[in-house]
Amino acid sequence: MSDAHPNIVQVGHPVLRRRAQAVDVDWIGTPEFDKLVDLMVDTMREAPGVGVAAPQVGVSKQMFVFEDRYGGDDEEDAATRERPVVPLEVVVNPTLDPVGDHIVKFYEGCLSINGFAAVVPRHKMVRVRALDRKGEPIELEWQGWPARILQHEYDHLQGTLYIDRMNSKTYSTVENLGDDDD
Ligand code: ZN
Repeated sequence: MSDAHPNIVQVGHPVLRRRAQAVDVDWIGTPEFDKLVDLMVDTMREAPGVGVAAPQVGVSKQMFVFEDRYGGDDEEDAATRERPVVPLEVVVNPTLDPVGDHIVKFYEGCLSINGFAAVVPRHKMVRVRALDRKGEPIELEWQGWPARILQHEYDHLQGTLYIDRMNSKTYSTVENLGDDDD
């Protein structure tokens, strides 16, 4: 099992179970805000991961970053999971709404539950309204894998982890994933 990234708090830390506080819009763009965004982006890229929410670096704020630089590398990923490349987004004070009622199930993991994964049902398509790094309103609409990331990161801001939503019989170490196929 690979070690967790030193910046990422692990399950059991109370900050992961608290509803994060709204970001004061006056705080956006301050050196302290920019420093937190940079820390989250650097941590996400080093981990490596496709999203990091502020509570995961120990800060109870309604913000997350997401980016998928590896999407589309793998034909199966691109087709089955609908995993395209996603440019970096900084998402502040988000609201999230499902689009349609289609539910999809795939394995997912979490940097704060290092070394494990499980099947989690998620909305296939979602819309997120938020502020960006400059405090400008943004609207993101994604389906497939990026929609899953958005729901996962949004959940972090509510104090919810994927283990609260998983099909618990599928919970597995990453090493044991796929043993069913042998
Ligand atoms: Zn997570």
